[in-house]
Amino acid sequence: MKWSRYNIKVSIDENKFLLYNLLYRNLLLLECNKLPENIHFLSEKTFRLLKERFFIVNENFNEIEAASRLYRLWNNREDVLSLTLIPSMSCNFNCSYCYERERKGIMRRDVIERVKSLIEKRADKLSLLNLSFFGGEPLCASEIVFEMLNFCNVLKNNYPQMRSYYELTTNGYLLDIETSKMLGLLGINTIQVTLDGPGEYHNSKRKTISGKPTFSRILTNVNNFLEQCKKSFLLLRCNYDEENLEYLIELLDKVPEEFRNRVQVYCRKIWGCGKIDITQKKEREVLDEFYSYAIEHGYRIDFGSFLERYNYCYADQSTYFLVQTDGRLYKCTALESFDEKDSVGNIFSESYKNWGDVSLEVDKSCIECKYLPICWGGCRKLRVLAKRSNQKLTDVISCKQVVADIDNRIKWFALQKIRDLKLGNTRLVSIS
Ligand code: SF4
Ligand code: SF4
Repeated sequence: MKWSRYNIKVSIDENKFLLYNLLYRNLLLLECNKLPENIHFLSEKTFRLLKERFFIVNENFNEIEAASRLYRLWNNREDVLSLTLIPSMSCNFNCSYCYERERKGIMRRDVIERVKSLIEKRADKLSLLNLSFFGGEPLCASEIVFEMLNFCNVLKNNYPQMRSYYELTTNGYLLDIETSKMLGLLGINTIQVTLDGPGEYHNSKRKTISGKPTFSRILTNVNNFLEQCKKSFLLLRCNYDEENLEYLIELLDKVPEEFRNRVQVYCRKIWGCGKIDITQKKEREVLDEFYSYAIEHGYRIDFGSFLERYNYCYADQSTYFLVQTDGRLYKCTALESFDEKDSVGNIFSESYKNWGDVSLEVDKSCIECKYLPICWGGCRKLRVLAKRSNQKLTDVISCKQVVADIDNRIKWFALQKIRDLKLGNTRLVSIS
């Protein structure tokens, strides 16, 4: 027997650490300083638990092969279809940091009909349909959002094996009570809204096209949404830069306590999604304080999705597509422009090409990495950019930052679990 190569230790404090297995996704809280390197020095009880949870594996077991197999299986599932639809590229905001250059147009009628027929054609084989709405601002064409949700709900009556997950990313300004009610009736699972608190700072960055402030209205709408849609969740993204970092925490007092167990908060540096520098001491301290406060005050840090998937993001899934208003297909929601060079096909044709000719297999330089079963070679957009500019993967991806980010997310997820399970002092507890 041997230790799994994918065990990582995340320190909680001087006397406690988490042992997490990145391949099997098992989590242990240990109240001691360290574990012996030699497994023969473990007590029988501890050995048994660690073996049952795959922290200890058979000597001959090839874990790298198992990880690669899992990645291929997970990302080529024919029974899952994930689509991000862009009902509207138009937007009612003029955010100072917006990276989207094309800001006009709503989804064409022939594209809407084609999306419907694609879903219908696949429905009998699907166990899960993930439908996300993104923009521009999707609620600038709310009628398309309602139409698509209604269509899928009717289809589900004929294909009861098909579960669905509906998500909407919105700036929140048009999320009035009527819209919330309608989204609730249509079974929206999660909405994602961004606030760049506090209010004054947010308003300086995120104004409407006509220059009006937006903070109060978004906050009122979000709280009304949580009141109206009791089964839905809110993903509250808090954007920060050097200026507002220390004041972000003030945002956590803005959502009434009764709703907080349905609100997941997360912070991202403006221009996030690529390199996130959380190795800087000050930044890490402030974010630590933010997440501690969030956990103490009833928020969720992670609904668990990060630890449930076996890819870096949906771009790795062969059955994931972003459908633009004109029917062109993409793999990434964070492109500066949706032009031909990044398109992987068209909703009107049945053939798809590989984005940027980047292999869908894990990059060779990552095969030996301990973080492989959760990072899988990192962001695909960065990998495409590296290939186009003839750079090495490690020139565009900072592994140090990726690893720090993963460790932190595991730590905060575990602390949330410890809170929920009301765990007291205990020497060795399995918490997943
Ligand atoms: S990108 Fe870096 S951290 Fe991620 S799997 Fe590759 S080597 Fe590991
Ligand atoms: S490919 Fe990278 S930039 Fe695009 S959505 Fe995934 S993580 Fe974000």
